[in-house]
Amino acid sequence: MNITHKAAVSCLLLGLTLADPHTASAQKKNRQTTTKAPKAEAAIREADIKRDLYVLADDKYRGREGGTLDELRASAWIAEQMRSIGLEPAGDDGTYFQFFSLQRTRLTPVSTLRIGSHQLRPNHDAVIVAPTNASITAPLVFVGTATPAEVGKVDVKGKAVALQISGAPTDGISYRRYLFAKLRDQAAELTKAGAVAVVFVSDDKAQAIYDHWSHIFERGRYGLPGDANVQVPADQAPVVWLPADALSWARQAGQQFSTNLKVETFAYPSVNIVARMPGTDAQLKKEYVLFSTHQDHDGARAPVAGDSIYNGADDNATGCAALLAIMRAFKQQPARRSALFVYHGAEERGLLGSRYYSANPTVPQESIVVVLNAEMMGRNDPDSAALLGSTPPHRNSQDLVDIALAANQAGPRFKLDIEWDKPTHPEGWYFRSDHLPYARLGIPAVMYTSLLHVDYHTPKDEASRIDYAKLTKMTQWMYLTGWQVANRDQRPAREAGFKLER
Ligand SMILES: [Zn+2]
Repeated sequence: MNITHKAAVSCLLLGLTLADPHTASAQKKNRQTTTKAPKAEAAIREADIKRDLYVLADDKYRGREGGTLDELRASAWIAEQMRSIGLEPAGDDGTYFQFFSLQRTRLTPVSTLRIGSHQLRPNHDAVIVAPTNASITAPLVFVGTATPAEVGKVDVKGKAVALQISGAPTDGISYRRYLFAKLRDQAAELTKAGAVAVVFVSDDKAQAIYDHWSHIFERGRYGLPGDANVQVPADQAPVVWLPADALSWARQAGQQFSTNLKVETFAYPSVNIVARMPGTDAQLKKEYVLFSTHQDHDGARAPVAGDSIYNGADDNATGCAALLAIMRAFKQQPARRSALFVYHGAEERGLLGSRYYSANPTVPQESIVVVLNAEMMGRNDPDSAALLGSTPPHRNSQDLVDIALAANQAGPRFKLDIEWDKPTHPEGWYFRSDHLPYARLGIPAVMYTSLLHVDYHTPKDEASRIDYAKLTKMTQWMYLTGWQVANRDQRPAREAGFKLER
């Protein structure tokens, strides 16, 4: 499905005629709300974007993991580009940087787990689903897939209960969300019945999720200091998740379960990178069009086909290179309002940089007119893309969406997907990037993206797989939107009654 009928409606709203939106008279009528195409659009060059992307996605930055030296080194490189393009620093203390603390909570390496004769390294050979301090030795009982009949046959009180994961979602949610809800709910049921530990064994479907997510559990939980998910929880029954090949031995009778788990929590730095191109209008320059992206990715992890570096070329070196190109255009031809460029750190650890910046902005929060967020813009069909935040309940400014759709029509003319913006879409894509914390504050916000692909969050997300012509068009689209917003008399209105579904 595409969105062309909507674009037609927005042309009407902007005073263009449907019959021929590009005639001189249409341009004249349109002058009140838009200015003509900026000369500096030519400053957005595919060659620059490609060169910058290859730098950031290079193995030397080792996947730019949030809270590591690799993220900090890539961030220093980005700040150097801002300086050489000629933008003002707009972070803390006259620098391009806004440092903030990540809180990380994980099992200590001295934690142990033994099932029968199998000595397992916690979060390496077996996932510990929720970090907890626990010291438990108990007999292990296997209850099949834990149907009520199977559980009814056994007294689970005081036992470690092992079961095989089963089933699939019936209500349209993704299998991953189904699985995590199942791990949580089934463990809660069994511990309520008296189990002192719960051991899940993957079936084939769960194994596919285990392969990817075990690395995430291994790293522990991340948040901003004070977040509930990084507090050391009260002692609770350990919940263990095993790979599918453990079934043959985990189901054997007469085994002992024994574990000693210790949790630690500590803080270390991540950083947002912030630059400003001042506007030309004495009053309007106090307001900002905020271009947003994130510089971090997933770092170096267990190798896939011999490659351990998750380069994050699409996710999100595309957004980083796009913003540098947009800076060059604004430097060459400033708009009436100021342009603010914010690279958010530690997005992959839970939108932490954008949560921090939106709560502690280096310009007054009310002065942020819109947020245009760049997230994964260089893959999939060359002629299609998506604008998240363009339909209810995710749309928080009809004005902004109209300007963005008109900019698409005036520029790249992408066929726009609207399926991924629906609250019923299983991926919940709208909730997975840096515009979200701003939208929650009521700031008009949209996300430009070319959506998911098979190389997402794998070592195959490399610079050689990016469609640079498409990425350049995505960049132009963002720029044209921001240019229009930055030059209008009025800032885009906020949608009354905006309320996200979660
Ligand atoms: Zn991303």
